[in-house]
Amino acid sequence: MQIKNIIEEIERFAPPIYQESYDNSGLLVGDKNAEASGALLSLDCTEAVVDEAIKLKCNLIIAHHPIIFSGLKRLNGTNYVERTVIKAIQNNIAIYAAHTNLDNVKEGVNAKIAEKLGLSGLRILSPKKQLLKKLVTFVPKTHADGVRNALFAVGAGEIGNYENCSFSIEGSGTFKGNMSAKPFIGEKGKLSKEEEIRVEVIFESYKERDVLQNLFANHPYEEVAHDIYLLENTYQNVGSGMIGEFEKPMNETDFLSHVKTTFGPKFVKHTPLLKKSIKKVAFCGGSGSFLIKNAISSGADAYISADIKYHEFFDAEGKILIVDTGHFENEQFTPEIFYELIHKKFATFATYLSKINTNPVNYF
Ligand SMILES: [Zn+2]
Repeated sequence: MQIKNIIEEIERFAPPIYQESYDNSGLLVGDKNAEASGALLSLDCTEAVVDEAIKLKCNLIIAHHPIIFSGLKRLNGTNYVERTVIKAIQNNIAIYAAHTNLDNVKEGVNAKIAEKLGLSGLRILSPKKQLLKKLVTFVPKTHADGVRNALFAVGAGEIGNYENCSFSIEGSGTFKGNMSAKPFIGEKGKLSKEEEIRVEVIFESYKERDVLQNLFANHPYEEVAHDIYLLENTYQNVGSGMIGEFEKPMNETDFLSHVKTTFGPKFVKHTPLLKKSIKKVAFCGGSGSFLIKNAISSGADAYISADIKYHEFFDAEGKILIVDTGHFENEQFTPEIFYELIHKKFATFATYLSKINTNPVNYF
């Protein structure tokens, strides 16, 4: 098995196209065509993690945070980023990162946090727009099912918990081929009027090439009549933060204890207690102060995230209980996502969760 086979599996789950513009997810170091000897999974890739990979004979490290983030101008070992990269290259170890794309997909970082906290009824707190397109095509009746199925096969027609979604309506189309045309029905040089089905499906924009390829391969016309529209709709499967509910409400101190035992820090920082019970919880793995307003307007009782600044705690305005767990703490389970993905597909492949605690923040 090659490194690229593992990467493909991760990218099917968290397409790189869904990373934020400032991010640097992807294969950062190494050759994707190299034979994979084992994968070491971690939140951060540090020198200690590279050492661990060497010891475990893994030539692939998969991390959530990209070790190369804002670029490298030289590579002479003056800082930990350069030393980590140099060590990886010297030891033929590839480094791959799935960062904000893994944050943004519905089953990603936040779903793992929800699983640990015991929250259900999950939805994305701030879903993104303009990620969907619609294909409309006009097909002779005899081929409508075939075309629909071919589009479904590449992921068109998926909406939330539903797949194979489409809309069809009957009508008639006209066309007149010139003398070089090879019409599927009718005769060249003569006006044809044919019964056709208008088939509509939505799809994730990044699948456009596959969708069109399957359309053209299964539509019988020489010139395939089709329109593609960019949709303004929000896409419920991709975006920032998440919201979910506990089965039963709990009081605020029980809630804070629950958060502490789930993520394990010595203490959590929080805004003043509101003397109400907590049932609906918004949360965002990593640095999530940009979502405080969304959390409040969602009607959540509490918002769990990290890297909240002093003045941002004021933004709670007595409307929500903000809890800062620490960045490492709330994202520490993220490597389990990689483990589950790889294990499901390649059950016998050597895959290890890193035992290195990479948290640079200490408590005294
Ligand atoms: Zn993070």
